[in-house]
Amino acid sequence: MKKIKSFTFTIFLILFSVNFFSCTKSANQENTLSFYAMNTFMTIRSFGKNSKEANLKVQERIFQIEDELSVTKESSDLWKLNHSNGEPTIVSSETSLLLHFAVDLAKKTQGAFNPCLYPITSAWGFTNENYRVPPQTEIQNLLRYVDYNKIEFSKNSNQENQISLQKNMMIDFGAIGKGFACDESIKILKENGIESAVLDLGGNVQVLGSKKNSKNQNVAWRIGIKNPDQSSQLSAVAGLNLKDKAVVTSGGYERFFVGSDGKKYIHIFDSKTGKPVENEILSVTIISDSSLWADSLSTTLFVLGKDKAIDFWKNFSSQTLQSDFETSYPQIQDFDFVILTDDNSIFYTQGIKDKIFFLADFENKTLVTH
Ligand code: ADP
Ligand code: MG
Repeated sequence: MKKIKSFTFTIFLILFSVNFFSCTKSANQENTLSFYAMNTFMTIRSFGKNSKEANLKVQERIFQIEDELSVTKESSDLWKLNHSNGEPTIVSSETSLLLHFAVDLAKKTQGAFNPCLYPITSAWGFTNENYRVPPQTEIQNLLRYVDYNKIEFSKNSNQENQISLQKNMMIDFGAIGKGFACDESIKILKENGIESAVLDLGGNVQVLGSKKNSKNQNVAWRIGIKNPDQSSQLSAVAGLNLKDKAVVTSGGYERFFVGSDGKKYIHIFDSKTGKPVENEILSVTIISDSSLWADSLSTTLFVLGKDKAIDFWKNFSSQTLQSDFETSYPQIQDFDFVILTDDNSIFYTQGIKDKIFFLADFENKTLVTH
């Protein structure tokens, strides 16, 4: 008992001194808020005298986005849409805009990115963790419901946004929801006067401004790229020094199952086959101004495979990606990537040439240029 008391007291002293320290340097005051939302663990760390209130506002906004975009909450726009039985459904302008973005990207990538795969991912058990390999006939049948061209956008007589899916179609924002939430969070932090922050929304990382080092100088944030070999002692294989950027990784190493055939099945799907993607990629990390873009492109480039992903980058980032899309979508000029492949190689693009550092011994390191 005595031991516990003195232990508690020590913790109290440490907390007290940390608190005292941060109060004395209010401009630099740090606040960290962690919570569970959108099926993942999230952490917001921001600096500045308004940081505590700002973090709480971000949390509130993320819960609101979850309520709107969740596929399991019965009051959400997506739930209503997925249970609409082919009838037009009224949704918020935000849901409509996001789905528009997803459909535009699907068209641009010939379905590599596809927001309509929910019937397929459900059949494989990724929505409730009852994993199974569905018979080919079942997959073939479900592939009839993944055509994003069949989504209709309209307004009703009250000028509300309506979406119509065909019967049996179902949408999910698993590949973009956290990215959207990240962009919205950064907006809120900025509106609340925060100039320095780092967010980690379940692997969607975004940094605002720079960070102060021990000498009170402004330096870039250091962000690690996870080792796809989760059994290794080395948790990150490379790192990036970045200011004001979103960094999103899609990997096949966190959500997967091993079938009775001994094969590994991951949670990213090929909408042509209705099966989990199988290619040489272990992970794709996208670095861009917007987390919505980074999130959607990390999934897209994973599906495309290494060679097509490189072509995609060459074709798109030489012009501006944004110019082909609605102006109301988040802004993005160019983007960069880091791709890890199963032959222990790393491919990275020229925009991050001076920002990347390597922590693992790679067989090949390839700088991708135009
Ligand atoms: P994570 O959510 O693990 O960070 P991703 O951003 O790559 O990973 O998104 C994967 C999720 O997106 C899947 O769980 C599924 O809900 C959905 N999804 C799977 N394949 C695709 C695809 N080809 N296009 C769009 N969304 C997909
Ligand atoms: Mg994604």
